[in-house]
Amino acid sequence: MQLYDVTVPISADIPVWPGDPPVRIEKVASIAQGDSMNLSRLHLGSHTGTHVDAPAHFVGQGQTVDQLAPELLVGPAFIASLEQLAGNTIQARDLAALQLPEETTRLLFKTRNSALWERQQSGFQKEYVHLGTEAAEWLVRRGVRLVGVDYLSVEAFGAGQSPVHHILLGAGIVIVEGLDLRHVPVGLCHLCCLPLKIAGGEGAPARVLVVRDQAG
Ligand SMILES: [Zn+2]
Repeated sequence: MQLYDVTVPISADIPVWPGDPPVRIEKVASIAQGDSMNLSRLHLGSHTGTHVDAPAHFVGQGQTVDQLAPELLVGPAFIASLEQLAGNTIQARDLAALQLPEETTRLLFKTRNSALWERQQSGFQKEYVHLGTEAAEWLVRRGVRLVGVDYLSVEAFGAGQSPVHHILLGAGIVIVEGLDLRHVPVGLCHLCCLPLKIAGGEGAPARVLVVRDQAG
């Protein structure tokens, strides 16, 4: 089998959503400075880098990240290529044209967003590929349970009332944002998405792996 780590490294220069706290990794003990160990204190938002949005992010009584069933976060998935998408908004007709395998419940979108991770030093990018509201409704109707995207939001930047988040999270769909899908082949795979188990958290950074059979 082949393992792909589709997680963006968390570092001080990772782009963050405007208004979210910047990442700071503070050394509180250092062997080089004469301490007996190396130790850090982390300062970061709960939606830093590759992360999971639990329903509680936008739904008052929604499930929190520690309540998400591991069975939902780990299992067969489909990586769909939308790298050739015209424009930045994924429409319902784009999803219909993918001809997804019947049993797809976990769906990741590989788009040109993944290339944005190559120049992350240039900061947060407001122009990225995102889902439209009808596409979000299409995913709910289709019975998808987990949706993954390769930049920091599933929704357009500046979409006032966050309708796409409300549609997906309101239907109990788990959102995974900030994936780096540059090096992973499209098609059927096995997903392993492990968000930090933050009690009562509405979201959390996650380590995400894609597993493929060598045979394809
Ligand atoms: Zn988020």
